[in-house]
Amino acid sequence: MKNTLTTNDWFTSLKKDGPFLIAGPCSAETPEQVLAIAHQIKDVASIFRAGIWKPRTRPGGFEGVGAIGLDWLKKVKEETLLPVGIEIATAEHVDLALQNEIDVLWIGARTSVNPFAVQEIANALKGTDKIVMLKNPVNPDMALWMGGLERLLAADIKKVALIHRGFSTYEKTKYRNVPEWQIPLDVKQHFPNIPMINDPSHITGNRDMIYDTAQMALNLNFDGLMIETHITPDTAWSDAAQQVTPQMLIEIFSQLKIRDLSNFEESFQISIHNHRNAIDELDSKILKLLNKRMQIVEGIGELKKQKNVAVFQSSRWQEVLDKMKKEALDLELGEQFIIALYKAIHQESILRQGKIINKK
Ligand code: PEP
Ligand code: MN
Repeated sequence: MKNTLTTNDWFTSLKKDGPFLIAGPCSAETPEQVLAIAHQIKDVASIFRAGIWKPRTRPGGFEGVGAIGLDWLKKVKEETLLPVGIEIATAEHVDLALQNEIDVLWIGARTSVNPFAVQEIANALKGTDKIVMLKNPVNPDMALWMGGLERLLAADIKKVALIHRGFSTYEKTKYRNVPEWQIPLDVKQHFPNIPMINDPSHITGNRDMIYDTAQMALNLNFDGLMIETHITPDTAWSDAAQQVTPQMLIEIFSQLKIRDLSNFEESFQISIHNHRNAIDELDSKILKLLNKRMQIVEGIGELKKQKNVAVFQSSRWQEVLDKMKKEALDLELGEQFIIALYKAIHQESILRQGKIINKK
């Protein structure tokens, strides 16, 4: 489903001079804390965020201050004129948010995995003119994320945005949640009119990596950023390692570069056109080479069939992978990229040989 429904006047009207920024603490802790942060970031932030109900992976941690925080956010709004946003996870949260003039409601990553929960929230928000944001689900399932968005749009919610906060993995990586940039970019292809916000705080889990990840998002033409900001990050009650101080936020904001969608100068156009032609030619060559490789693979398939030899040969696969990893290193091609590429090639190869060997 291609979406062209929402108008983004709300987004443009909230934008300050610089990247569109949602900022504030992971969790509201005290009235003084939220007010102090809000006052210090009000010139750069378009929306103030603070979690008051915190979904925790395991019980026993700080689960948010709860509904009492709604009064504190009212005060933030009065004093700074910033729109205020919280995470909501149930219809009850939605009702409380609506009764307390919360402007922005976002659905967190642990809620967006559950279509029942998203539908319950969409029903509770039906027809609202509040801003509603949907974080990506914790798992890298693009259809599930888009499905959640479709539920919100079907409930006639017009001011909608998406938040890319990365995806969990079993293996340890340098990221808390790996970005998998292709996923938000693919979603954006389907829903070009829905603002896509990047959340470098939950992607990196580390304040030293926020700037680079935020700039990467802007390089990819993301529409805005959500950055957790705390007056004393190291003593924060949740997500201490990833929160920045208001001063750091202002510094990051002033250094980030917004990229133009394109450039229409003739020299740029000619030069990029030439480079793209060169890429197109190489892409055709890559496909022809892959085709040749597959023909040889099929030849081996015939040999295996004649001698009744199994398709999958573990030591040979390991040998190919190791060799390619080593050559890739010399050619400065990323190891993860080459592994993923060769896994795809190998899978296609064994599927083809499987078909041959099964032939009567
Ligand atoms: C948050 O924004 O504080 C939060 C809990 O994020 P996520 O849902 O992305 O984990
Ligand atoms: Mn957080």
